[in-house]
Amino acid sequence: MYVKTILIVEDEQKIARMVQAYLARDGYRVEVAFDGDQGWVQFGTLEPDLVVLDLMLPRLSGLELARRIRQSSNVPIIMLTARAEEADRVAGLEMGADDYVVKPFSLRELAARVRAVLRRVDAEPPDETVRCGPLEVDLAAREVRMNGSLVELTPTEFDLLAYMVNHPGRALSRRELLEAIEGRSYASLARTIDSHMKNLRHKIEPDPREPAFILTVQGVGYKFRRGGEPACPSVGA
Ligand code: CA
Repeated sequence: MYVKTILIVEDEQKIARMVQAYLARDGYRVEVAFDGDQGWVQFGTLEPDLVVLDLMLPRLSGLELARRIRQSSNVPIIMLTARAEEADRVAGLEMGADDYVVKPFSLRELAARVRAVLRRVDAEPPDETVRCGPLEVDLAAREVRMNGSLVELTPTEFDLLAYMVNHPGRALSRRELLEAIEGRSYASLARTIDSHMKNLRHKIEPDPREPAFILTVQGVGYKFRRGGEPACPSVGA
């Protein structure tokens, strides 16, 4: 069963540890960061399912951390604020935080908010269509289009591509990619990631010898081009 990961960013270590222990009892994997910088690093490596974020943090502030997170992620954020921080609370909600709890809070209340927010997220249909130049990946419909035309992919190819577009800019090892598709297709275990990638490139790359979307990371595996830098190829490129 998939265990959800929660990242707590809170500089008051006693509070952080108490929240960690309490939420861990509910079956979550719970990690703690004690300042904003550390929180930002942990966010990148853990890819948590939810972030509990204290607004008053040393180094990088909670608001600034929320802003950074929202640039690349829709992960639910629950803010911890002091009663006096109403302006920050409002700013946090405008920044895209999903909920907040005012200190001092009861652990039961926070745990209930966590469950409620995660339930809400689970009930939403999976996000969106990911677009990169002429390439369109509809994750819900499991359809891929190039310049508007449907590209026929095998289920394994689609799963690989979906996993990559969900982690743009990140180097993905063959092992991680195998784990991402494991269980969905037995046949995939017999074939190598490389041959899947070759087929994928053939289907979506304008020039498979000069890949524009699926880039090779030497010695690691592959990565999907991050939107923006450098720009996705333009339509018809
Ligand atoms: Ca604090």
